[in-house]
Amino acid sequence: FDAIVKDEIEKEENDLTLYHDIWVFAEQRQGQLQDVALELLGEGKKLVNARGCDLCAVVCGSNLSHIVDELFAHGAQKVYYIEDDRLNQYTTDGYSIAIGDAIEQYKPEIVLLGATHIGRDLGPCLAVNCNTGLTADCTKLEINEETKGIMQTRPAFGGNLMATIVCPNHRPQMSTVRPGVMERAERVEGSKGELIKVQTKLKDEDIRTKVLEVIKTVKEKVSLTDAKVIVSGGMGLGNAEGFKLLEKLAKAFGGTVAASRAAVDAGWIDHAYQVGQTGTTVKPNIYFACGISGAIQHAAGMQNSGLIIAINTNENAPIFDIADIGITGDLYKVIPEILDEMNL
Ligand code: FAD
Repeated sequence: FDAIVKDEIEKEENDLTLYHDIWVFAEQRQGQLQDVALELLGEGKKLVNARGCDLCAVVCGSNLSHIVDELFAHGAQKVYYIEDDRLNQYTTDGYSIAIGDAIEQYKPEIVLLGATHIGRDLGPCLAVNCNTGLTADCTKLEINEETKGIMQTRPAFGGNLMATIVCPNHRPQMSTVRPGVMERAERVEGSKGELIKVQTKLKDEDIRTKVLEVIKTVKEKVSLTDAKVIVSGGMGLGNAEGFKLLEKLAKAFGGTVAASRAAVDAGWIDHAYQVGQTGTTVKPNIYFACGISGAIQHAAGMQNSGLIIAINTNENAPIFDIADIGITGDLYKVIPEILDEMNL
């Protein structure tokens, strides 16, 4: 009998036609929707257009009607609301069991999560619960014209090559996506969709951890992901003092400073300012790369910026390959000249 049941379950799991729609995990913390959810909705919209299905969001917790409204306003056609006090705070068990259960009931074809601390923890557990695979840390998603499956691209081998991964035999296809890489969905006031309240089998004893207290760290001095102008410095600065000059330029443009990993590793600036594969991914309107060679791991975190202006003494530096404006010269001469031009 067990063998027959197992066989039936496997048959259902392998029947890919049962799965439809794209789900976005709407991460909330203390009742606040996280920006990455809006970026996933923006990307999800492109995918549903190519795929021909509905764009949905799944949110967990209670008293979240304001978030549900925001999700509709940002393009979700359906919102799956797992309304449960026990999910107000994230726990691995609570979320992976509750969302896993919702996935089993409603069978989305694609599930996208932000590669945040929560998404990176939840994604693998959810994938195991749903007996499927996960591509972590994607920077690009596309629908394959022929198979209609999702092609998930992510940096591999220390960022030296980009790997495109497909999940042909299991559903849902799951990816975590780096925050700050995708375009946010536009907000359309008053948009409405279908609200689906999800009942799950989550039991109290399923949740093995308890959040005793949430302690907020002092807000970071910088929010690189929100900055419109970034003036970034690398080893070409020569020393930590060099960042003072970059700060002047950043101030002139109403922006913030940032750094390459080499400058961070040299102890010239805090890791919070690091841009790149192992730092923050940024997409400002203007990115100044000052004394930065443009290694692939750095480029991975800034190459989608609007206008890239590179200042480097070496005319063959790889940063010039991705720069819109390249200035060959010593940053200690070029930056004061720019400030002079601006009468600063
Ligand atoms: P360098 O490569 O030393 O370049 C300095 C540049 O300054 C040179 O091009 C030089 O011509 C120029 N220069 C020198 N003097 C001047 C001057 N006076 N004026 C103008 N230009 C001048 N790096 C990151 O940045 N972010 C990451 O997240 C990251 N993650 C990594 C992850 C892994 C797994 C690995 C292996 C590496 C990672 N790296 C990362 C490191 C990366 O490979 C490079 O080593 C690093 O980006 C180099 O930093 P840089 O450009 O400041 O220094």
